[in-house]
Amino acid sequence: MALTGVEIFKLLPKTNCKKCGFPTCLAFAMKLAQRQASLDACPDVSEEAKQKLGEASAPPVRPVTLGIGEKAVKMGEETVLFRHDKKFVNPCVFALAIRDTLGDDEIKNRVDAVLQSEIDRVGQKLRVDALALIHESNDPVRFGSVAGKVAGMAPEVPVILCTSDPQAAEAAGKIYSDKKPVICGANSGNLEAMATIAKTNKTTLGVTAKGLEDLAALTERTKALGIEDMVMDSGARTAKEILEHNTLIRRAAIKKNYKPLGYPIITFACRDDSLIDALIAGVGVAKYSSIVVLNSIEHWKNLALFTLRQNIYTDPQVPMQVEQKVYKIGEPTAESPLLITTNFSLTYFIVSGEVENSRVPTYLAVMDCEGVSVLTAWAAGKFTASKIAQFIKDSGADSMVSHRELIIPGYVAILSGALEDKLDGWKVTVGPREANGIPAFMKTRMS
Ligand code: SF4
Repeated sequence: MALTGVEIFKLLPKTNCKKCGFPTCLAFAMKLAQRQASLDACPDVSEEAKQKLGEASAPPVRPVTLGIGEKAVKMGEETVLFRHDKKFVNPCVFALAIRDTLGDDEIKNRVDAVLQSEIDRVGQKLRVDALALIHESNDPVRFGSVAGKVAGMAPEVPVILCTSDPQAAEAAGKIYSDKKPVICGANSGNLEAMATIAKTNKTTLGVTAKGLEDLAALTERTKALGIEDMVMDSGARTAKEILEHNTLIRRAAIKKNYKPLGYPIITFACRDDSLIDALIAGVGVAKYSSIVVLNSIEHWKNLALFTLRQNIYTDPQVPMQVEQKVYKIGEPTAESPLLITTNFSLTYFIVSGEVENSRVPTYLAVMDCEGVSVLTAWAAGKFTASKIAQFIKDSGADSMVSHRELIIPGYVAILSGALEDKLDGWKVTVGPREANGIPAFMKTRMS
């Protein structure tokens, strides 16, 4: 069970040296108890205390890694129920199902779809992260052979090997033994055999149960067999069950520090209807699934799910921002227009996208306003005439163009007079209020 703040305090050095960033050892202990600080922050804690506090300060959802290399994904490590309390740590993994009954062409199409799924959204690379090989053929040899084919086509993509047949698990597990897959399908009937295969091949074990009591009993038995890295399938398949099971699991892990349910959750959306598949997956993303297995992927579906995941796993307390500098869009020359905006990621990506749409090579000066949008920055005194004028000089924007015209966002038209006073010899032009007006605005200027 979790230690209280006072119990933790008794194990700390009690020197109030402040090296941990807190004014007293007691304040630090309270934060540790709330899992809002890490024990590593105290450099003077004794080895004995570390050992005692280790388990108590470990994240209530065990961290587990799927795959190796650049495409490896971390799961678990979560410490809160709600993202407004603290950032959710490791975004849920999307995996595309590949059934071993499919023909070679369809298997290849599915692998290719995953390999080509990556997109760039507000500066982050987002993709379908993994493949879930599903043993449907009842033939262990076929399952092993499909695993071999997939490993050859996409050696770097993490996999989940879904089978409850130990022979099939062994055949496919061997192929991925150095690649940290999940073997998912251990249950109360096959646990010993599956645990042996997982240990031999150093894989994570996915345990599959019928309900939460069964699941907790199964993870405890698995742990007793020497397996630490697990993912859990509670058997939930409908949206209602997924919502209920996942919420109860997360609450038990976070609020009660209930270790038997403190592992990442795998959810099988797996519906033939692509829209239902996406909707069920959305429930998993929103409610604590660490892996969501999809029956199909398509561009529209990826965009919706990536956006949902990105929103949920973005820290709401830290604005997303891009680097302050003058960005070149296209191949601008000294005569090209010079626009300015703030460094809120969404603002930057929308404005730069619309400038690209206009096909007019442009300099886009992006000013650090602590990651807030134009109007908010102006209202907070971060995007003022004197600060903009200073930035135009400091950033070197004035030496990139031979003209002396700065185009400002329409929302801060009010700044134009003051800005012309601060930027001696410059003309300030008021651009459109909304970014989607930029292409027409640029074309009108060109003509
Ligand atoms: Fe106490 Fe350690 Fe923090 Fe110093 S660094 S105040 S000893 S908890």
